[in-house]
Amino acid sequence: MATSSSNSTANSRRKKVCKCGETPVLSTSWTDDNPSRRFFGCRNYYDGKPCNYFRWLDDEICDRGKIVIPQLRNENLKMKEDLLGTKEELLKMKE
Ligand SMILES: [Zn+2]
Repeated sequence: MATSSSNSTANSRRKKVCKCGETPVLSTSWTDDNPSRRFFGCRNYYDGKPCNYFRWLDDEICDRGKIVIPQLRNENLKMKEDLLGTKEELLKMKE
């Protein structure tokens, strides 16, 4: 009987790998249809490699979310802009 040790542990924790052999990176979509929806994509995607690895992490955004989430995000961005503007004004006053 062969006593070669089993290699069954190799597959116990399969790592996600794209076609380039890279670990996919987690990103967030901000398109109209998928606001704030997270996905895994190939890290070389923006380097123009034809890998196209793509997998959603979150479930599809509900219709209500598609309307509300972008609104909240826009409001948030606007508030941040206002805050930056206010900070700059404060700094000018100190000078
Ligand atoms: Zn890839």
